[in-house]
Amino acid sequence: MPARLLDGRPVAEEILRAVREQIRQISTQHLLTLALLLPDDVGAKAYARAIHKTLAPLGVQVRHVPLDESIDEAGFREIVTRLNQQPEVAGILALQPLPRSLPRWLPALTIAPEKDVDGMTPINAGRLFLGLPAVAPSTPAGGMELLRYYGIAVAGRRAVVVGRSPVVGRPLVSLLLSADATVTVCHRKTTDLAEVTRTAELLFVAAGSPGLIGPEMVRPGAVVVDFGINVVGERLVGDVDPAVAEVASAITPVPGGTGPVTNAVLARNLVTLARLQRS
Ligand code: NAD
Repeated sequence: MPARLLDGRPVAEEILRAVREQIRQISTQHLLTLALLLPDDVGAKAYARAIHKTLAPLGVQVRHVPLDESIDEAGFREIVTRLNQQPEVAGILALQPLPRSLPRWLPALTIAPEKDVDGMTPINAGRLFLGLPAVAPSTPAGGMELLRYYGIAVAGRRAVVVGRSPVVGRPLVSLLLSADATVTVCHRKTTDLAEVTRTAELLFVAAGSPGLIGPEMVRPGAVVVDFGINVVGERLVGDVDPAVAEVASAITPVPGGTGPVTNAVLARNLVTLARLQRS
């Protein structure tokens, strides 16, 4: 029997309903702004449009702050310091890929933790790692929301995460551990990927490699969450081969799976920060 499709849209709608109500309570006095540090990149611009499409109907102002390819570290710090000080800016997000002139860790060390809408600063990442309440990165937190919405148990189950990036794989490990899963992480240097992925009851893939996970790499009945968003020709494809649906019990589609939930969680994170800033 083909796998159940874990559609992200109703999950996002549920989250956004709650966010809308919270924004109504806050924004009677204040206008909420999310600042997007936007490199000159097609993928980043597409992501910025998707964020705008989610946040604008909530009454959130999305401010695009262009990052020129030639910007240097001092210039970047100046921009972020200014945003850190502006009271109407509730959250700041640096979209990837950063201009090549900037070190990858720079946003994490410049954005103020109280405006860190995607949980990337050492304070927020550290809180998450320690299992303390934290603003978690929206993509992995969205993956957990998908499981919650569809009633998929996590506690005590064997989870495998493919990818160890700071935005998806690593924070997902912390979230899964806090939810009492038994977690294994794979990455580019993992020697026999299939051997590990076949042990997963819950398989999470965030590698940025189209079709990396084939049906022979998946344990029958596994739940598969595909974070991959890859442009192949004119199409968006995930990191999981669609044929996996013949083996898995449940799977997220691409597009329409994890993507919409990511943006809804981003909106929720922004409201969480705004409330903390005003308390
Ligand atoms: P990244 O390049 O920073 O990290 C990729 C990770 O995958 C690395 O840890 C690498 O070791 C691992 N990896 C790569 N190839 C592998 C292989 N063959 N075998 C095992 N491990 C391998 O990427 P990222 O920023 O984490 O993004 C990953 C994917 O998720 C991309 O397709 C990206 O577009 C997508 N993404 C989706 C969302 C969403 O909302 N769904 C958000 C962010 C990123």
